[in-house]
Amino acid sequence: MEPPVALIPALRDNYVALLHSPDGRSVAIIDPSESEPVARYLESRGLQPLAIFNTHHHPDHVGGNRELQKAYDLPVYGAAADRDRIPGLTHPMYEGDRITPAGLDRLGVVWDIPGHTRAHTAFVFADDGLLFAGDTLFAAGCGRLFEGTPDQMQASLARLRELPDETRLYCGHEYTVNNLRFAQAVEPDNPTIKKKLAWAVELRRQGEPTLPSTIGEEKQTNPFLRWNETAVKNASRQKGALDDDPVSVFAAVREWKDRF
Ligand code: ZN
Ligand code: FE
Repeated sequence: MEPPVALIPALRDNYVALLHSPDGRSVAIIDPSESEPVARYLESRGLQPLAIFNTHHHPDHVGGNRELQKAYDLPVYGAAADRDRIPGLTHPMYEGDRITPAGLDRLGVVWDIPGHTRAHTAFVFADDGLLFAGDTLFAAGCGRLFEGTPDQMQASLARLRELPDETRLYCGHEYTVNNLRFAQAVEPDNPTIKKKLAWAVELRRQGEPTLPSTIGEEKQTNPFLRWNETAVKNASRQKGALDDDPVSVFAAVREWKDRF
């Protein structure tokens, strides 16, 4: 079955995700960086928007909130801790809250996964096997630590890593090719990374998204989920990690990526 999610490219390399209701007529809008491409998509397909879900407060994730809210009178769900930084927030959310806007007919749960920002929300639709991870977990990468610590981010990623392998990962950006180039620098002998890089380069050449990924694929290719692998531990030592503790390995690889 096709996943019930559409990706709308926005800004330079963002994606706005639309999660459809089972009847296909209504959608929740995840991280509208801008309103115009979203409104155009909705109008051209006669879709009824139900709500906005924001993973975090960055402008490239909330930039379209106000205009979409004004046009369609939408509730906005996001982290309670960022109530002052998420425009139009109507539903401040906490860890473990259920997210069930009328008409969506799907059950989502809010996870607080800080690190990229001090509060960062993942929307987990376990029954549908869907994860909306914002800028925490990317295909083959993770977000920069703008407001959080390596401990926080590693714990957040460890949580996401526990989701079932078949979970589809939707994230905020099309960074896959660059991320896989870095992954290859970390693990030059990982054949799965090599194969996925060739696949991703070809898709981008055709202008197609490389998302969704899956948690299973990420466990094989994402250096920021592979702190237990000998190759990643060894590479992190070369870049200054003092021991094999998952946080030490993660922090060294993250700093390396910041300079890559
Ligand atoms: Zn961000
Ligand atoms: Fe972003």
